[in-house]
Amino acid sequence: MPTALVVGAGVGGLASGLALRRAGWDVRVFERAMDVRAVGFGLALAPNAMAALRRLGLKEAIAAETITPTVAEIRRPDGHVIRRFSGDSHNLPPGDRLSFILRPALHAALTDALAAHGVSVETGLSADAFDATDRLVHLRFLDGVTATGDVLIGADGIVSTIRARLHPFEPPAHPSGHFAVRGHSTAIDRLNGVHAFWYLGPGIESGIVQASRTGIYWFQSLLADDVRSGTAEVRDVVARVSARFDAQYRAIVEATAPDAQRLDELFVRQPLDRWGTGRVTLVGDAAHPVLPHTGQGAALALEDGVVLGDALAGATDPVRALRHYEAQRLGPTRRIMAAGPRMAQVTTTRSRALGAIRDATIRAIPVTLLARAFARPEGR
Ligand SMILES: Cc1cc2nc3c(=O)[nH]c(=O)nc-3n(C[C@H](O)[C@H](O)[C@H](O)COP(=O)(O)OP(=O)(O)OC[C@H]3O[C@@H](n4cnc5c(N)ncnc54)[C@H](O)[C@@H]3O)c2cc1C
Repeated sequence: MPTALVVGAGVGGLASGLALRRAGWDVRVFERAMDVRAVGFGLALAPNAMAALRRLGLKEAIAAETITPTVAEIRRPDGHVIRRFSGDSHNLPPGDRLSFILRPALHAALTDALAAHGVSVETGLSADAFDATDRLVHLRFLDGVTATGDVLIGADGIVSTIRARLHPFEPPAHPSGHFAVRGHSTAIDRLNGVHAFWYLGPGIESGIVQASRTGIYWFQSLLADDVRSGTAEVRDVVARVSARFDAQYRAIVEATAPDAQRLDELFVRQPLDRWGTGRVTLVGDAAHPVLPHTGQGAALALEDGVVLGDALAGATDPVRALRHYEAQRLGPTRRIMAAGPRMAQVTTTRSRALGAIRDATIRAIPVTLLARAFARPEGR
């Protein structure tokens, strides 16, 4: 049986490993962290993510863990309701519905399915370099350990070592101009029966969603200048930002433990014209990092895994199969990469005029079109 070496046990690496195992490959997944458990923040699962999860055989495992909001409000930070939805999503086609999950639940579903196929993630191994011949790929780790396989999949995130080896002259990822704060809490009673709030104000976007039966996930999308205008400690940033919001918002954020909040600067890269070469390719953020404003990073990583598994299933020429995989994924992922900065500009604009047009559009647009804009950026 041919062997695939997968570097990185994030959503992209786990999905690729699972898809390849289901396609009849031997799979080894390597992770530099000592523990593969994800931090407990949430994820929006767009319809394409759900379709990919179904293809990976995870429909039931995921159904028990996801929440699809039916009561939602779009607000200004002062609490003024721009638009309220109540039960509308019942009438939406499944292809326009957005669901939420906590990351540990998604990771657990993927790692459990891999374990059921006899694959355990090999932790504490940081990939450093590879040599590829016509027939094999030799992977080296920082501690001198090596592994040999038929193909190598770089699923090692936006600061990918495998990508750096494939494209040594590429400039590093650069700041997008945005930061994100994420938090999770169990103060579910403070939602008062609403499953999701989306706040839009000058220079700020924030969301609060029920992401499990007992858990809330919230995020803030902030302009880099605003974060840098004071101390960049997560608790100070959150306190400064939250002061601009209504009492319900503040109560939810204040109910979040300090170690359940995290601040990240967001980076972008120019799209690559080609991802891999020979027996090596990339998936997920390593191939095509997208801004979280698209809600598509994990979804694209899951789709990559499915398409990769299809391409390599029964492939007699793995090199050709990898190029076929890349040819299918380059276009769609490039469009979402390009959409990210545009979406971030609309949701976090400081322009009062643009903000007023955006809010008026939200009030006027039919619910089906608004849902589609969230669930299928770029009309996918
Ligand atoms: C604030 C924020 C909110 C987001 N919200 C959403 C959302 O709502 N919906 C959505 O679909 N997406 C969302 N995303 C995007 C999504 O989280 C990412 O696109 C997705 O997790 C990428 O998965 P990945 O497996 O490609 O990379 P990662 O999750 O970065 O995983 C890479 C893995 O590789 C490991 N690794 C790195 N280097 C090495 C090495 N040299 N050797 C071995 N292992 C290595 C890392 O430790 C890590 O475990 C969000 C992102 C952010 C920052």
